[in-house]
Order: sequence, then structure tokens, then C-alpha cells
Amino acid sequence: MDDSLLRRKDVWSLLNYLDKTQTEMLDPVLERGIYRYPVVEEFVKDDVDSVLEGLADLGFLQRQLLDSVMSCPACEGFSHLLKPVCPTCSSGRLMKGNVIEHLLCGYVDFEHEFLSHGFKCIKCGKELKTLGVDYRKTGVFFKCISCGRITAVPIRRYICTNCGRANMEEELNLKPVYRYIVVKEKFPLLKGIFYDLSPLTDYIAAKGYTVQSPAKIVGTSGVTHQFTLYINVWGQVISSGLVVDIISEVSEEKIYEFFMKCLDVKAGASLLLVVGQASEKARKLASTFNIRLAEFVTVDELIEKSKTIIGELLERLREKELMSEAAFLEDLLRQLEKK
Ligand SMILES: [Zn+2]
Ligand SMILES: [Zn+2]
Ligand SMILES: [Zn+2]
Repeated sequence: MDDSLLRRKDVWSLLNYLDKTQTEMLDPVLERGIYRYPVVEEFVKDDVDSVLEGLADLGFLQRQLLDSVMSCPACEGFSHLLKPVCPTCSSGRLMKGNVIEHLLCGYVDFEHEFLSHGFKCIKCGKELKTLGVDYRKTGVFFKCISCGRITAVPIRRYICTNCGRANMEEELNLKPVYRYIVVKEKFPLLKGIFYDLSPLTDYIAAKGYTVQSPAKIVGTSGVTHQFTLYINVWGQVISSGLVVDIISEVSEEKIYEFFMKCLDVKAGASLLLVVGQASEKARKLASTFNIRLAEFVTVDELIEKSKTIIGELLERLREKELMSEAAFLEDLLRQLEKK
């Protein structure tokens, strides 16, 4: 999970609102067959659930299991029609009623069927006389109009009202319904994430480089990766450019993720700027992957000091390029001499 969710205007407004109003928690409200989070909907339009889950993953919200519902395996909807069907022929043409068994001949049918025949057995024609002696009431049953089967337990199908899929009960998934508790301690960190990068980007641009922030780059895998910054000489290929990410917490996984992104886009150099401290392991991993890792105490410090680091890395990229150009020329000369 990266911080890109926090760069969305709607999410940012939501977090700001939660912070300002000192909202303690976000409770789900069951409305017209779905659980909604009205406060969140004020800010986020389309993907309320994934925003809430994303914020929980980032630690801004804490999930509290409040309820659970059975959901459709196809569409995750949880509004169903309960539809009974015949266990023999799967027909939905069922009737429900009190059933009587004529003990003398074993005929079984609805009470109203016997009544409509003058309380005589439909099969053997004998009159039903004493309850418990020649006939008995067996309880409430379902009768299939299509095949005549009488059953106490029809098969229950759950028809999803959203996608129409007919599910068996065991096919349904158990979906948790959460209350999200606002983690207040996490909010001061926000100010560290919503830094204004323009002093940095202006500085780099003034040096004659092109800067993209945030930058979306398609890797060789076809996957689009996002970086906080992408810096290069105008018109140059990415292998002579620098990609930069700024993160608020560093772990070995984050370094690995960053490495995979850089590898996929074939960036010339990679820089990870951290507000906070990295573990010794994380530092080692970064250096193994040839990632420049720089740690800062505050965002202001990061903006100020990273200028020098970025300058250095860009310088080195230019040198590398000149050297490869020189090598290319030397090679060319050697080829010419041979002729
Ligand atoms: Zn009978
Ligand atoms: Zn049937
Ligand atoms: Zn469905």
C-alpha cells in the first residue's frame, strides 16, 4: 500500500474533516439493502469501501467488526431473495400448508385438499374419522406443483438481487461489516505527507531538467507505476533519468517494492526520501539494490537537503552518459582504424 491514496483531493478533504471535527468513528448505516458510510459519501463519490479499507491499511482508521452478512460470491452484494425449490425437480412452483397423512392407505396431501373432497381420502375414497387413529397431521410441508413431491425442507436458493446469480447457502461468503475508528495519533503525520514539493521541483527545473510530480511511468511489464518525482533531461530515455519516492515510513518491504518499480521502468537512478528512520536492515537492502536512501527528521529538512542529493545523482547520471558516449566514440575510432 503506498501513500498515493492520500494524494487524492477527496480523501484529503475527508481526512481534514475528520481531523477538524474530531470525529471518533465512522459507523455503517443499513440503507436500501447496502451498508453506507454517509459521512464518507459526503467527500468520496465512487469507491467508499476501497477508500476506507485503504485508510485502514495505512493506519488512519482501525477496523472494528460490528456485524457480518452473507454476500454473493460473484458480485459481493448481500441482498438476496430466498427462493425455495423442489429437491427432486428444482421447480420453484411450490405450495406450503398443513399436511395430513391418511394412515389407512398412506396417502399424503394438504389438509385443504382433503377438505375440498368432503374430508375423504383422495386416493382410497374413505372418510377421515379420528385424528391420531386413521389419519394424522404431519405438520407444515411444501408441495411441488410440477412433480408432486412433498417435502419439509425445500432446497433454499439465494438469488442475488444485484447480479441475479442463484447461490446455494454454502456458496455465499461471509462479509464483515466494519465500524472504522479514527486513529487520532496518526493525523499529525498527515502534515508530513502533504508537503508542498514546489520548492524542490522549482529548484530542479531551474537547473534545466524536466520534472514530473507525481509521475506515471509504464514499465516493461506493462504495469503503470507512480513515483513522487521523475527527473530527466528533456527528450532523454528513462535509463538516463532519476525516479524519486517520498515515504513517511520505511520498511524492507517498501524498499523491495520501490526496487521492483525502478527495475520495471528501467530507471537510470533511484532515490528514496524518508521522513523518519530506517532500520539497519532496510539501509543495507537499499544499498544492495543500488537505491540511494536518505532519512530526514522533518519535511522541511527533506525539501532543503534533498536538493543536494538529487543534484549529485543527476550529475552522476550525466557523467555515466558522457562516459558511454566516449566509449562509443573510442570504439568507433578503433573500427575506423582497422579499415
Ligand atoms: Zn386413503
Ligand atoms: Zn418437483
Ligand atoms: Zn451477485
